[in-house]
Amino acid sequence: MLKAGSRVKSHGIRGSVPAGSGAPGSRGNGAATMKKSIIVIEDESDILEVLKYNLEREGYRVRTCRDGDLGLRLVREENPDLVLLDLMLPSLDGIEICRRLREDPVTRGIPVIMLTAKGEESDVVLGLGVGADDYVTKPFSTGELTARIRAVLRRTEHAESDQQRERIERDGVVIDAAKHIVSVDGERVTFTATELRLLHFLASHPGRVFTRDLLLGRAIGEHAFVGDRNIDVHVRSIRKKLGRYRDLLETIRGVGYRFLDEEI
Ligand code: CA
Repeated sequence: MLKAGSRVKSHGIRGSVPAGSGAPGSRGNGAATMKKSIIVIEDESDILEVLKYNLEREGYRVRTCRDGDLGLRLVREENPDLVLLDLMLPSLDGIEICRRLREDPVTRGIPVIMLTAKGEESDVVLGLGVGADDYVTKPFSTGELTARIRAVLRRTEHAESDQQRERIERDGVVIDAAKHIVSVDGERVTFTATELRLLHFLASHPGRVFTRDLLLGRAIGEHAFVGDRNIDVHVRSIRKKLGRYRDLLETIRGVGYRFLDEEI
C-alpha cells in the first residue's frame, strides 16, 4: 500500500528547511523555487521515516512507497528526479523495478540509487548491471546518502543530452519521451504517461502494425492500471490531441494500429 499521508506538497513540507541550504532546483522548465523530487521505495518503515525526514530537511520533495509493484507505478506516474530503491521488497524486487524503468523510454533517464544490506554484494552487481546509477549499503549516514544523491543528480544533468535520441520529430509533431513533452505545431500538448508511452512506442516503429495485445504488453506494460487497458480509448484521445496530424495513427481494421511510415 502507498503509505498514508505520503503525498507531500511542496508548500507543505513538515519541519523547516534551513535558510540558505539551497533547495535543489528542478530539472526541466520548472520555477527556480521548485524542489527536486525523490521517490523512496523501501519496506522497512523506520528506515523510510528517517529517509523521508532527512531528505525533506535537505530540501527535496519526497514520496514514499513500501511495495515494489506500487512503487513502480508511482515512479511511472510521477516521473521523479531520482529514485531510492531498496532491493528486497514485497511483490516486486528492486532489481526487477530497475530493469523495467530502464526498458521504458519515459522512465529510462530517471537516476536510481539502490539501498542494499551488507552481504548483498551480488545483488549490487546485478543492480548496476540493470542500470542502477549507484548504491548505498545499510546502515548508512544521512551525510553519505545525500552526497551520493547530489553526485548522481549532477551526473545525470550532464547526461541529459544523451536523452535527445528519445526525441522523435514527424511533420509538426515532436515527441520527447525523456522530457515527457509532446508538441503539435510548436504548441505543447498535455499527454498522460500512458498516452505518451503508446505514441512514442508506435512512432519509434513507423510502418509496423501492432495488435492491441502487443501494445498493451510492450507499450503500456503489464502493470498498467485497469483503466489503462483499453488501447482504443488511448488512441482516440491521442488522435484528438494530434489535431490535423491525427491520421499519423492509422487503424488497421481487425488487427490494431500503426504509425504511418514516412514513405507512405
Ligand atoms: Ca527490504
